[in-house]
Amino acid sequence: MSVQLVLATRNAKKLAELDRLLAGAGLDVEILGSDAFGDLPEIEETGSTFAENSLIKARAVSTHTGLIAIADDSGLCVDALDGQPGIYSARWAGEGATDESNLDLVLEQIRDVEPAHRTAHFACAAALVLPSGEEYVVHGQVNGVLLTQRRGEGGFGYDPIFLPDGFDATTAEMTPEQKDAISHRGQAMRALVPVIQEHVH
Ligand code: IMP
Repeated sequence: MSVQLVLATRNAKKLAELDRLLAGAGLDVEILGSDAFGDLPEIEETGSTFAENSLIKARAVSTHTGLIAIADDSGLCVDALDGQPGIYSARWAGEGATDESNLDLVLEQIRDVEPAHRTAHFACAAALVLPSGEEYVVHGQVNGVLLTQRRGEGGFGYDPIFLPDGFDATTAEMTPEQKDAISHRGQAMRALVPVIQEHVH
């Protein structure tokens, strides 16, 4: 019987990405989203780093479900904004923020920044917490530059303005597979695969 893993996110697009990344690794696991547990309490991301927030989410979900939980925390770090929005990426435009409003705010904030200084990176920490309390955290990062206008319909969040180094396409113009191959989340999930493998046999 395959082991059940819970991915601690209610973001459907992120769940699809995480699911795809783990499924592609050929692990004998059954992957559930947080939505499979209707009574999960809302988890406040009170950490000050991606790693802390990923652990907070994975701990809460593992404790609640009694299963192995995986959570990621990720964001866009813009050099001209001193690394912001960083851990605040999902709520950058404030109360009721959406991908649209967050991206608009970043565009507004970097409007006068010269192209050479429009560097940024996506960062991701992924945590795995076992019911025994054992914890692991891995990281991924992809560097790039920010455009001044959206390009592409794929992905989510800040993808339409993020041009990864070495590519002519934004992460919103890439196929899911192309994005996975280079993305911060792809790197982190691939780093987690051997850890999962070690614990599901
Ligand atoms: P989290 O769900 O707290 O990890 O917040 C992640 C936020 O960072 C998302 O809502 C996006 O705004 C941004 N973000 C993280 N990863 C990506 C990505 O792969 N593409 C675009 N935006 C991303």
